[in-house]
Amino acid sequence: MSNAVAAAQARGFWRVYFNPLTIPYWGVHILAIVGIAITGFSWWGVALAGLFFLPRMFFVTGGYHRYFSHRSFKTSRWFQFVLALGASCTGQKGPLWWAAHHRIHHKLSDAPGDLHSVIQSGFWWAHHGWILSNDLEDTDYSRIKDFAKYPELVWLNRLWMIPPVAVGTISFFAGGFFALVWAFAVCQVMTWHATFTINSLSHVWGNRRYKTTGDDSRNNVVLAIVTLGEGWHNNHHHYQVSARQGFFWWEIDCTYYVLRVLAAVGLVWDLHGVPDHVRLPDGETAQEAEGTHVLDVA
Ligand SMILES: [Zn+2]
Ligand SMILES: [Zn+2]
Repeated sequence: MSNAVAAAQARGFWRVYFNPLTIPYWGVHILAIVGIAITGFSWWGVALAGLFFLPRMFFVTGGYHRYFSHRSFKTSRWFQFVLALGASCTGQKGPLWWAAHHRIHHKLSDAPGDLHSVIQSGFWWAHHGWILSNDLEDTDYSRIKDFAKYPELVWLNRLWMIPPVAVGTISFFAGGFFALVWAFAVCQVMTWHATFTINSLSHVWGNRRYKTTGDDSRNNVVLAIVTLGEGWHNNHHHYQVSARQGFFWWEIDCTYYVLRVLAAVGLVWDLHGVPDHVRLPDGETAQEAEGTHVLDVA
């Protein structure tokens, strides 16, 4: 465990999970639950939440993760801002904060110093304690110099709370209380917890195709479907720079499919692929890999 995590956890449960900065987080959860109780369960509401979940999740995975954390493809300055703005609507702090913390996760994965390791710091800390704790609030700009040179990203990083508030406000004025509950609150809660499973569950639940990653990362088809491809987490730890995390055709990776479409229309380019010698462990052939593929997550 890192000194920073140990110090944060030493403050105790309430100071980590219920400090004043967590009020919006728990407030949106309460809005979702109370809102469903008031509006009643609705399949239209579920459809609305699902509809907005997809772009939100894409911005987190394609933007915060594959672009800002790993630079797995290239894009223009204006479209990188679109990616940052879209992801910041999901209430996971700013692009530079997110990517700087994520780079530490890969550098020290599951070792002392990893800021959200389930192995080092426990399930709930890895799931959301690390993002709720106000001890880890600062952005280490030295870890994200490549993007900190853009003033618009620094600005967004500081004012990260505005986009999710704007989404909630627009939802209310566009569709009333029903839209506020389903398109914003329920969808927001879904996006948070889907994203957070990658830190909490994908280092404990699933298969390890690449056993030499030096951490406990796993591949898990359930998490891959829920997170639009991020559940191929052992693949990702094995070869982080790849724009695709499903390394084989049967490994569903919706984020990558969207990136391919964006590349086809010229909005992004130079998507990093996975060389065969990286993709196939121990000299395995593509046919052998296909023959042994399993979709269970034991
Ligand atoms: Zn990563
Ligand atoms: Zn990981």
